[in-house]
Amino acid sequence: MSSSSSHFNSIFEGPPCKCGIPAPIRTSKTEANRGRRFLGCINYKQPSRSGCDFFFWIDPERDTQKELLEADNNDMRRKISILTKEVEEITRENEVLRKKNEKLTKRLWGSSSV
Ligand SMILES: [Zn+2]
Repeated sequence: MSSSSSHFNSIFEGPPCKCGIPAPIRTSKTEANRGRRFLGCINYKQPSRSGCDFFFWIDPERDTQKELLEADNNDMRRKISILTKEVEEITRENEVLRKKNEKLTKRLWGSSSV
């Protein structure tokens, strides 16, 4: 089938390794780097063939991703604390207005009943 062979060729998108073969994009299956994509020699760690040590991560390190998430988290936390203070202020303001409204309502009812 021609469609399957073209799919096979599309895997080889990386630069050639020391063997002169374009390195395929692969996905790590190890616990530490699960799902992390990398370029590696097609013959790397193949006991039957002698590959080179060409190896290149495409995706950033997990720690980097974690740091980015943490930075995002801190930013969100800061925004939440600002918003919480705003809500507190509005609640306080609302309470003052509610009391004022209560007083005015009482005065209105009091004057009308006289
Ligand atoms: Zn190689």
